[in-house]
Amino acid sequence: MNEKILVVEDERDIARMVEYNLKKEGYRPVLVHDGGFAAAAAAREKPALILLDLMLPGLDGLEICRRLKADAKTSAIPIIMLTAKGEESDKVLGLGLGADDYVTKPFSLKELLARVQAVLRRYSVKAAAGAVPGKLKAGTIELDAAKVEVRLKGSPVELTSKEFELLKALMACGEKVLTREELLEKAWGVDASLEVETRTVDVHVGTLRRKLKGEGKRIITVKNYGYRFEGEKA
Ligand code: CA
Repeated sequence: MNEKILVVEDERDIARMVEYNLKKEGYRPVLVHDGGFAAAAAAREKPALILLDLMLPGLDGLEICRRLKADAKTSAIPIIMLTAKGEESDKVLGLGLGADDYVTKPFSLKELLARVQAVLRRYSVKAAAGAVPGKLKAGTIELDAAKVEVRLKGSPVELTSKEFELLKALMACGEKVLTREELLEKAWGVDASLEVETRTVDVHVGTLRRKLKGEGKRIITVKNYGYRFEGEKA
């Protein structure tokens, strides 16, 4: 919480309303009204997220998006575009330029806040995944995150991408128990929880265990909760 959010919006009423509601939710909004200042403000403030209006004085939202994504200092900051009805093609263009999501005006604050939360969550999950050390080991299992490779007693194991992500998440979390929802989030992406049943996790854990042969027993089922990975002492 308390993430800084840069709001680039020239319509003062909307900007103020968004600011007020972001504050209420515990975020720290920073307002910019002129498109010409947006990129510099993003580089300076290093916000966790940018809400970017399309039609702006100075520089329009699409051009700002292009510049933010081209600059290493700001390229990793997620962007939600605020578009008006009738700007459909701009919306598609914006997503093509690397914006993460869009909200069509007039939007409900509930919808906007839900999108903000979803994008921030998706990024924190990604960041956590990125923080995984390159190589993880337990017993005869060796997982190389960079090469996307798992070896068992030195021989490569053929895993599906989901099985690989599940194993990586479990091994990276040490002995911590992960719920099926958390595993879904890590291996399928955050929005998957809406479309994928948590039982799917069980199915993939089952095939993963079989492929890991004797070492499969390191993946411990925690009844009514989820799974954890047994490290060296198993
Ligand atoms: Ca505008």
